[in-house]
Amino acid sequence: KGVDEDAAIQYLKLQYDKITIDEIKTFKDLPLSQKTLKGLKDNNYKIPTEIQKQAIVFALQRKDILGAAKTGSGKTLAFLVPILENLFCKKWTRLDGLGALVISPTRELAYQIYDTLRKIGFLHDFSAGLIIGGQNLKFERKRMDQLNILICTPGRLLQHMDENPLFDCSNLQVLVLDEADRCLDLGFEATMNAIIENLPSERQTLLFSATQTKSVKDLARLSLSFPTYVAPHEQA
Ligand code: ADP
Ligand code: MG
Repeated sequence: KGVDEDAAIQYLKLQYDKITIDEIKTFKDLPLSQKTLKGLKDNNYKIPTEIQKQAIVFALQRKDILGAAKTGSGKTLAFLVPILENLFCKKWTRLDGLGALVISPTRELAYQIYDTLRKIGFLHDFSAGLIIGGQNLKFERKRMDQLNILICTPGRLLQHMDENPLFDCSNLQVLVLDEADRCLDLGFEATMNAIIENLPSERQTLLFSATQTKSVKDLARLSLSFPTYVAPHEQA
């Protein structure tokens, strides 16, 4: 089984640089693991949206991304699929600790992301956690060292970084900032900057927003190295 999986991973990686975005019609046309493809199919996701095609392809190529696309265009899968594939290709296990971090401005949005991750990622072996406050901090604390993928709000994340000895992000592979524009509107700029300072710089960063404001670009400058700008004009 291990040999088959190694071969499958090698085969996927070989395809990353050969993808022609215009030729992608369905998720199956993308070089994704069988686990992710089945997770998408079982949840009736067949045709990727424009932001999903572009962001997934560039993210598989390990580029940093600055993605802008309007609400409802499918940004959640545009970062969850790359997270699953990144960790899958590295054969990430619970022992490897925190591999991916998704920061979202509100509890509701964080919960929706977590819910989508559970649905499309059910065949993968990663552990996922939701850290959004409003729950017992002690309870969150104990489980922190066992999580591979963490979905969180900025304030609560920074609290764990500052106070929880079990919080260890030194192995982080992927950082996602969802609704980066709203994070700034809601006054999280200082918190976000403090969080980013605590993260290892050798990582992939995927930043998404519904709009391109100047302050999003400022935040992007802090966290991205030569990002690929993805802003498709989607047909309504
Ligand atoms: P955004 O974050 O850009 O506002 P979401 O990721 O929340 O958008 O997606 C909006 C809605 O579209 C959700 O209900 C989601 O399930 C659905 N959706 C996303 N991608 C697809 C797709 N490829 N095919 C069908 N429905 C999709
Ligand atoms: Mg969204």
